[in-house]
Amino acid sequence: MPHMAVAEDLEVASFLKGQPKKLFIGGRWVESAGGKTFATHDPATGDVLAAVAEANAEDVDRAVAAARKSFDRGTWRELPPAERAKVLWKIGDMIEERATELAQLETLDNGMPINDALLFHAPLAAATFRYYAGWVTKLDGATQQVSFPGQYLSYTLREPVGVVGQIIPWNFPLLMAAWKLAPALACGNSVVLKPSEETPLSALRLAELMQEADIPDGVVNVIPGYGEVAGARLAAHPDVDKIAFTGSTDVGKLIAKASADSNLKRVSLELGGKSPNIVFADADITRAASGAFLGIFFNQGQVCSAGSRLFVQEKVYDQTLDELLKTVADTRIGPGMDPVNQMGPLVSRTQMERVLGYIRTGTQEGARLMVGGDRPEGLDRGYFVKPTVFADVDGKMRIAREEIFGPVVAAIPFSDEDDLVAKANSTIYGLVAGVWTRDVARAHRVAHALKAGTVYVNCYHVVDAVTPWGGYKQSGWGRELGPYALDLYTEIKNVIVDIA
Ligand code: NAD
Repeated sequence: MPHMAVAEDLEVASFLKGQPKKLFIGGRWVESAGGKTFATHDPATGDVLAAVAEANAEDVDRAVAAARKSFDRGTWRELPPAERAKVLWKIGDMIEERATELAQLETLDNGMPINDALLFHAPLAAATFRYYAGWVTKLDGATQQVSFPGQYLSYTLREPVGVVGQIIPWNFPLLMAAWKLAPALACGNSVVLKPSEETPLSALRLAELMQEADIPDGVVNVIPGYGEVAGARLAAHPDVDKIAFTGSTDVGKLIAKASADSNLKRVSLELGGKSPNIVFADADITRAASGAFLGIFFNQGQVCSAGSRLFVQEKVYDQTLDELLKTVADTRIGPGMDPVNQMGPLVSRTQMERVLGYIRTGTQEGARLMVGGDRPEGLDRGYFVKPTVFADVDGKMRIAREEIFGPVVAAIPFSDEDDLVAKANSTIYGLVAGVWTRDVARAHRVAHALKAGTVYVNCYHVVDAVTPWGGYKQSGWGRELGPYALDLYTEIKNVIVDIA
């Protein structure tokens, strides 16, 4: 496989020169214990982007030991809260200052359009650190009015959980790292982060920035490696107090099991989805169609909350699909580094083949292929798949039930509200839903009836550090972001003092 040449004038050039990239353990950059490396690729060309040290079980043990040491010594959790807040704020500033470099890294490693990386991912990662910097000085407890005979002062303390293992996917590598690290650190924990083997680079660069921002040694450890080796060891490690996982539902179940079988570590899970995006006949159809486009094709459909089931009321079904198809026809697809492209490649050959397999299944199951369905001409080195729309999909078809995680939408007609709610909720997932209507009462009624962690009304993919994130049913356990994430990374201690 050819090793790609990165243009010297790219901000990311100097980071990519220093290869192989090492593991970050105990505040030092080290080789893996087994001396092995793995290659990460540019999905727009298939070329090797960088060699990265591959963490094995021994490296996980080293990283957990470093995190434990820093936690027990209190080098981070016992710093004055205002000092810890300053460090987190500084990390946010550094992400903002290095946004172009981080965005280039994200696009080269993951494939996403550079404008998305620059305008969405990097700023949101910075905002997440700043938001949680604000919480460090506000992790208050409460007092309780006790009726037990006698006289007591009862109060609660919010304490860090301890050593936190964090495992993240490849679809939003930098942002997922920020969502995990910022609240865990705000609460005073020490962390071992395992990025995806597909996209390890932005987390490593973030670790360098955190080091520059004076995060104490051992408080953050970043160890790229394979899921079945490094991820599995982290999830089963007896000295990890909590595991936070974002990824597929199947692996989420393995994480929960590994926790139960080892030390019952706390577990939070952000898993897959098959989200309904719903267009009622009274909606602004032009806006709804562009919301349907954004809902499924943003990040090439590799989004846990992708609106992959498009429910359209029968009366406006043809009109909505026509408008959606027009937008698809105007979409530019190509390497993410070229800012004219609105869609880039999928992350890997495996992912591309998986998605093309689902497209074949959809056709075999009898769904009507309206557009797309194959790879674009002239881009055969990279892992591109055309935006694909299936119409007249039946809820029983696999393309309507399983998470494809690619640019494929299943359009499903519905008659009325009751029919819609039953169909939309008939999935094992419950991450998000979109509702397009001009009827305010209907919007709220349907929002209440849908089993989803987030319901967007007349919008889609609005994400902010302050809004809770997580799913019903098999889309996960717990809520990230906002104040809700603080519950994931703290234990509540109750102190009761006899003051009679
Ligand atoms: P994945 O489950 O294959 O991998 C996720 C992470 O888990 C990776 O770091 C991987 O190395 C690791 N892993 C794999 N096997 C493991 C094991 N046996 N033990 C421990 N760790 C293991 O998911 P992916 O393909 O990287 O990402 C796509 C999935 O992530 C989709 O299902 C998507 O919906 C989900 N996702 C969810 C959210 C959310 O917030 N709910 C956000 C992004 C992605």
